[in-house]
Amino acid sequence: MPYTTYLVEKGASHSFVAEAKPPTVTMPRIKALMTGSLPGFIDIVRNLNSPALLEDNVIRQAKAAGKRIFFYGDETWIKLFPKHFVEYDGTTSFFVSDYTEVDNNVTRHLDKVLKRGDWDMLILHYLGLDHIGHVSGPHSPLIGRKLSEMDGVLMRIHTALLSKERETLLPNLLVLCGDHGMSETGSHGASSTEEVNTPLVLISSVFERKPGDMRHPKRVQQTDLAATLAIGLGLPIPKDSVGSLIFPVVEGKPMRDQLRFLHLNTVQLSKLLQENVPSYEKGSHPASTQHPAGAAQKG
Ligand SMILES: [Zn+2]
Repeated sequence: MPYTTYLVEKGASHSFVAEAKPPTVTMPRIKALMTGSLPGFIDIVRNLNSPALLEDNVIRQAKAAGKRIFFYGDETWIKLFPKHFVEYDGTTSFFVSDYTEVDNNVTRHLDKVLKRGDWDMLILHYLGLDHIGHVSGPHSPLIGRKLSEMDGVLMRIHTALLSKERETLLPNLLVLCGDHGMSETGSHGASSTEEVNTPLVLISSVFERKPGDMRHPKRVQQTDLAATLAIGLGLPIPKDSVGSLIFPVVEGKPMRDQLRFLHLNTVQLSKLLQENVPSYEKGSHPASTQHPAGAAQKG
């Protein structure tokens, strides 16, 4: 992926390895990306019949803030977020042997949608790479060709966003990520390193251009994306998110803003802790000052 490599190594971007928690299957991983929380193993059972997502999430917050969201790709998103997309076209992942049509069905919308100015968020979920893995494994000669195709898609989107910025003078954010990895046999669902490691690349002209390290990327959690996106878009952080703001992303901001972002994340996390841990007590409780040892135990 030469264009993506260029962006990671020399472009205005931040890249990470984001760790996905098992089960490494699509539905719970989309949930983790958008809610910042950790769904249970029951989700693997529901994976074939994804119900609408009830937990607070970035999509819901974006819609509530009046953002217009378009979606093309894996129809799991449409099941999770049934009334959230202004325009959408779902692709079924049922025919796993197809790795061409599933992606053409996404890409065919690109030219038109990238010229339009009536959306705030565009989500694309490609399936072909995953399908090639299932059918012929991660070392298949088809993988290289597919990655090259995806690199071309990323280049088209990035180029279009940059030319849009010249008109609107507003910066965009382009996020490249995977919902899960791929095992040595081309499958996923479990907790091997290859299955839980996913790429996360954030690209925006607001970032400083500094050399990225492809070989030793920083590690973050997949669940950190929700809080980071929410803060970046000026939305409330989803209520049940356990994620932390991916700090390098805001390092170029004035100190005052950085502190405010950290404060927002901390308040949200401490609220979550307060609601979910019965023994949670505020530091101002007399017990914590008079009996520090006891307070520490409770904490
Ligand atoms: Zn798969």
